Order: sequence, then C-alpha cells, then structure tokens
Amino acid sequence: MNAAPAGLAELDTASVPAQAPAQTNVAARARAIGAGIAARHAEAVDRDGRFPGEAFDALRQEKLLGVMIPADLGGGGASLFEVAAACHALARGCAATGMIYAMHQIQIACLVNHGTNGWHRDLMARIAADQLLLGSATTEAETGGDIRNSVCAVRSEGEGFTLAKNASVISYGDQSDVILVTARRNPDAPSSDQVLVVVTRDDYRLEKTTRWDAMGMRGTCSDGYRLEAAGVIDQILPLPYADLSAQTMLPVTHILWSSTWLGIAADAVSRARAFVRSEAKRKPGTTPPSALRLAEATAKLQQMKAVILAAIRQYELACGSPELLTGLSFATAMGTLKVTSSELVREIVEAAIRTCGLAGYRNDTPYSLGRHLRDAHSAALMIGNDRIMSHISTQLLVQRDGSGAFE
Ligand SMILES: Cc1cc2nc3c(=O)[nH]c(=O)nc-3n(C[C@H](O)[C@H](O)[C@H](O)COP(=O)(O)OP(=O)(O)OC[C@H]3O[C@@H](n4cnc5c(N)ncnc54)[C@H](O)[C@@H]3O)c2cc1C
Repeated sequence: MNAAPAGLAELDTASVPAQAPAQTNVAARARAIGAGIAARHAEAVDRDGRFPGEAFDALRQEKLLGVMIPADLGGGGASLFEVAAACHALARGCAATGMIYAMHQIQIACLVNHGTNGWHRDLMARIAADQLLLGSATTEAETGGDIRNSVCAVRSEGEGFTLAKNASVISYGDQSDVILVTARRNPDAPSSDQVLVVVTRDDYRLEKTTRWDAMGMRGTCSDGYRLEAAGVIDQILPLPYADLSAQTMLPVTHILWSSTWLGIAADAVSRARAFVRSEAKRKPGTTPPSALRLAEATAKLQQMKAVILAAIRQYELACGSPELLTGLSFATAMGTLKVTSSELVREIVEAAIRTCGLAGYRNDTPYSLGRHLRDAHSAALMIGNDRIMSHISTQLLVQRDGSGAFE
C-alpha cells in the first residue's frame, strides 16, 4: 500500500489532496458512483436485501476494485486515505455499497502487505485485471465475534491442504471471487495459532446455511455458509494471523468501517440541513428551532471526521514499523476508533432525525432517515463494542502511560 498523502485534509471527496495522481483520482470517481447509481438503487437494495450489483458493475468499469493493488501488478497503487475517502463517498449514497467496498479493500490490504510469494502476486495481478471481488470468512459459528480464535484447521498433505469452516457470516459470499479465511495452522494447534488462507472460487465450495434478513446493512447479503476448500500451501499468507491482524487487518478494518459509517452520518446531516433550509424558506427572517439539533449533529460529524483522520495519520506514521504496529498503544488507538465512531454514527443519525422530526421519521419524504438509522445500528455490533472495550481494559493494565502523547 502506498503511503497516504500527508496532512489531515478533510475526509471528503471534494478535498482529495493535490498529490494524488490524476489517474488514481479514486475519491472523485467513487463520489460519482456513490451520488449516482448507488444512491439511485439504495432503497431497492435495502428493501429487497439484495447485492448492489449496479454500483459494483460501475466500480468494476472504473477499475476501482483493484485500486489498492501496486501499480507494477496492474493496480492503481492507491493509498489507504484515498480508499477511506472512497468508502465514505459510496456510503453517502448507499451504506451497503460502501461497506462491501470497505470489506473488499480490507482483504486487498492484507494481500498487498503480506502476500509475498509468486502465487499471491499472480492473484493480485488477476484481481487488478479482472476486477475480482474479495470476501472474508473470519466469524465462525462456534466462536462468534471472537475472531482471534478458530475451531476449523488447515489440514496439509504434501504441497496441498484442505479446510472446512462453519462460517456463520460471509458477506456477499455468492458474489465473491476470492475469500480470505482464518483457521488454525493445523489440527493440533491451539485455537489462537491462526493463519489466513486465500482461496479462489475454483478452490472452494459454499453451502448456504443461513439467509441474511437483518434490520440494516441488508444489501451486504451476509449469509451463513459451510465453506470447504482445497489448494496449495503457497496460498496461505506466511505471517501468523496474530501479527497480520495487528499490523494490517485490524487497523485497516477499523479505519475503513469508520469511513463508511462517516458516509452514513454525512448523508443524514445533509438531509437534516436540507430540511432546516426548507423550513427557513417557509418563514423568512427566522432561524428554525430545529437548527439547534442540526448544529449538534454537525459538531458530532466534525468530531467523527477528526477521529478517523487522526487514526489514518497514526497508521501512516506506524506503517513499516512492525514494532509500532504491534504496540499496545496503537492497538488501543485503533480499538477506540471503532468504538467511538460506531457510537457517533448512531448519535448523529438520531440528532438528524430529531432535526427533521416527522419528515425524517416517515419513509416517504426526501428527508427520510429510517434506513440510515437501521444501517447505523450495525456499527456497534460488527465485533461487539463491549468485546473490544473488555479487550482494551485488559490491555490498559499492562500498558505504559502514553495517554495524550503524539505517538
Ligand atoms: C453487516 C455485517 C457484515 C458482516 N460481514 C462479515 C463477513 O463478511 N465475514 C465475517 O467473518 N463476519 C462478518 N460479520 C460478523 C462480524 O464480524 C462479527 O463477527 C459479528 O458481528 C459478531 O456477532 P455476535 O454479536 O453474534 O457475536 P459475539 O462477538 O459472540 O457477541 C455477542 C454479544 O456478546 C458480547 N460480548 C462478547 N464478548 C464479550 C466480552 N469479552 N466482554 C463483553 N461483552 C462481550 C458482544 O458485545 C455482543 O453483545 C458481519 C457483521 C455485520 C453486522
């Protein structure tokens, strides 16, 4: 992954730093898709709980799926900042599109940072050329959101392996071309001795076990599956999953999820602003009382944006230093990012609903916010906030006091 452009510029598609090469103007291209085709189909995607196929066709056409693959492998060489801005822009139009894009790019980041051998490099070139979509199977029926422990295990035989996982959630599993699966290193390994296995559609078979009919994020199609795979040992990423997760998967996940939630919050605030403006027009010369709630929502939106930008900056500073990336203070910062932004998105959407009143509560006005609220509620559950806080509270017992330091 490229180092991101320096500076805490606005995490907004209008303010992609000038350093970003024109041909990889990722955020602007994502903004066009988010505001156009993704937004147009967002209601149908939510209502029918279906994959946002139209938006992903457009993302493929714009070559935005391989944008983080290095340029020498045919990708766009985009930075994490640019991809975060793209998640934000897509989620403004359709949260499910933004979240699927985020989940895909998290898997790409793991491959780019840790896929060192020829098999991985060939796959990255294919992803860029064919715009393949990557999914993730970390959650297991037996362990739930405790993704740092696995029951399933890799079984090696000579140069090959087999793997079977009871994956209770694989978002867009039907549409994925490649899936990254966590598993124990071998059948005798303890549950926490995990590896990340890369399997392509030719290597695996999925049998659906549950259907996703959820309150929100309905278009992510997060069905449950029994996954059976076979491949060659080279497909397994060499770094232990514990280190890979600390260095890449966890920080990139929390940054890109948060950026997606920021997109939901930003769209809610923009609907609230439009409502207040329309009220002001109706009674010229007076400030509508609802403007107070709009100010509250806007202040929280700014806070959320600042927290995410600070985390991106912190990640950039730590990049290339396994010592910093695996340090407790970095892990605490990335954990609190997720908890803070997932709470803020719900609070902001609620403030926007209070701003719009009935017009936001109803499902049939330009200010409707029901979908935003339902989508926002998924944020605290995607790896439960209480689970993360309980982990952080244990870390704090052994962590030296670096509170407030720029590190
Ligand atoms: C939209 C969406 C898409 C998803 N996509 C995928 C995907 O593609 N691939 C995938 O693998 N997974 C996916 N997931 C699953 C996700 O990553 C989590 O595994 C899942 O949300 C956790 O589910 P849970 O609440 O049942 O599990 P649990 O983590 O078992 O939590 C159950 C409850 O117990 C609480 N709890 C658990 N441990 C503790 C603790 N130590 N202290 C205090 N409280 C605790 C939690 O906070 C929660 O309230 C997705 C989830 C969502 C919402």
